[in-house]
Amino acid sequence: MSTSKIKFIFVSGGVISGIGKGISSASLAAILKAKGFRISPVKVDMYLNQDAGTIRPQEHGEVFVTDDGIETDQDLGHYERFIDQPLKRTNYLTTGQIYAEVLRKERSFEYNGEDVEAIPHVTDEIIRRILLAARGSEICIIELGGTVGEYQNAIFFEASRILKLRHPRDVLHMHVAYLPIPAYLGEMKSKPVQQSVRMLNSMGIEPDIIVGRSEVEIDEKRKERVALFCNVDKKAVLSNPDVKTIYEVPVILERQHAGQIVLEKLGLKARKKDLSSWKKLVTKVKRIKSEIKIAIVGKYFGTGAFELADSYVSVIESIKHAGWASGVAVKLAWIDSGKIELHGASELLAGFDGIVVPGGFGSRGTEGMIRAIKYAREKKVPYLGLCYGMQMATIEFARNVAGLKNANTTEVDRETPHPVIHIMPDQEKKLLQRRYGGTMRLGAWDCAIRRGTKMEEEYVASGVLPARGRRVISERHRHRYEFNNKYRGLLEKKGLIISGTTPDNKLVELIELAEHPYFVGSQFHPEFKSRPLRPHPMFAGFVKAVVRSKKPR
Ligand code: GLN
Repeated sequence: MSTSKIKFIFVSGGVISGIGKGISSASLAAILKAKGFRISPVKVDMYLNQDAGTIRPQEHGEVFVTDDGIETDQDLGHYERFIDQPLKRTNYLTTGQIYAEVLRKERSFEYNGEDVEAIPHVTDEIIRRILLAARGSEICIIELGGTVGEYQNAIFFEASRILKLRHPRDVLHMHVAYLPIPAYLGEMKSKPVQQSVRMLNSMGIEPDIIVGRSEVEIDEKRKERVALFCNVDKKAVLSNPDVKTIYEVPVILERQHAGQIVLEKLGLKARKKDLSSWKKLVTKVKRIKSEIKIAIVGKYFGTGAFELADSYVSVIESIKHAGWASGVAVKLAWIDSGKIELHGASELLAGFDGIVVPGGFGSRGTEGMIRAIKYAREKKVPYLGLCYGMQMATIEFARNVAGLKNANTTEVDRETPHPVIHIMPDQEKKLLQRRYGGTMRLGAWDCAIRRGTKMEEEYVASGVLPARGRRVISERHRHRYEFNNKYRGLLEKKGLIISGTTPDNKLVELIELAEHPYFVGSQFHPEFKSRPLRPHPMFAGFVKAVVRSKKPR
């Protein structure tokens, strides 16, 4: 495959993990896209899992799902939100995928009897995959997972070095590293960055750009030191301080001419410049005064607030996007559904303006979720159920409105007399064969929206559907269980509105209730398609209802 005309920017991390390498890469992607280039971002994860679907959420954070149905890292979500572009399977790379392919080739004699070795065979496979992801783009940004100096990511650094050796003018390396300010010193220290760059150097890599992450702006003096000791231009040392909203990062980097610097180094010229919509958003967010309080109810026993934020990034971002569009900031609280089982819903949920039950798996905490949903339904608190949250809402309605005692999902109770949510037959087969990896109902599927429903109204209001005409949307999925059609008639008779199904009417996709300010649940995950400047209709409707019911007319 020819690489002519494609440029590559590798992004590595230094000093500590979790400093927002993904946000820095996504911000650079946003800047370069705004300058008129076609961008392809790639995230590389170092584990041997072939995708993120088989990793525990507390361990991995959110599993982000693409349209073409790969379960990936949350950074792909940031990329999609920052460059407003759906990504594909090829944009996600793991060590597991690389080795699986190398081993497959070895078994089918594709190496013609050669010794199969880390270099060049594994590095070549990495490069092949990067080129595949870059196809059709002009600039490919590859975020290398982990931090420099780890044993398990070294091979990817090697691949980046080899690609640069082959195309010296087309490959850049951006290093994102942390500058600590020890409390007892009260001074920003640059030595750790210098050391992590040394580590890069020892692998034959000279960074072209250094992004310094810190609590505050990096001053000129320290930029000079970093430049001198790390062997980069001073203007290529960029400051990326902590910010209130991540969407400010492109604006901050662009103020330091990040885009121009990168383009110059790549021998490219900007075709346009337009970050004005971002700037407007950031200004707007900073001016927001009023606040809504939203409870996110799930099973969070023993998890810290950081992990929670990580596990539900897209949900959190989606609520924020919708909030900004309605001119409100969102204050989120994590409510452990296990605690609701002990203390009751009104005890824990009074004082919240809206309730969300996000996606989830397994039985623990589900009774608490159901009680939270009953509370939302009866007290007319706006409710949004995402995937598991829709299934739980169906169970709550079946039990408490339709009188189906002990109704449940077979995921929780295999013996339930009323399996209102049950496993899809093909899914059951997969589980029996222990075929767990990448086998859920994944990715984008069409959903036909029923006319005259709240959902039709919201999808039209936000411009996803035209005022008149076709009523089909496409949303992303990740589930094995589904609404049991045997109960459709009965539940509808009792007032449950089925506002969306697959176009063949076989699977229920959306439910809602009338005579409620907002009570909506989706089998799909709308959070994957929300954008900072274009909130998703389900979230937009939810926040609008929250704002409305907060201020009774
Ligand atoms: N556990 C449910 C299922 O598999 C819901 C999944 C989810 O919330 N993502 O169908």
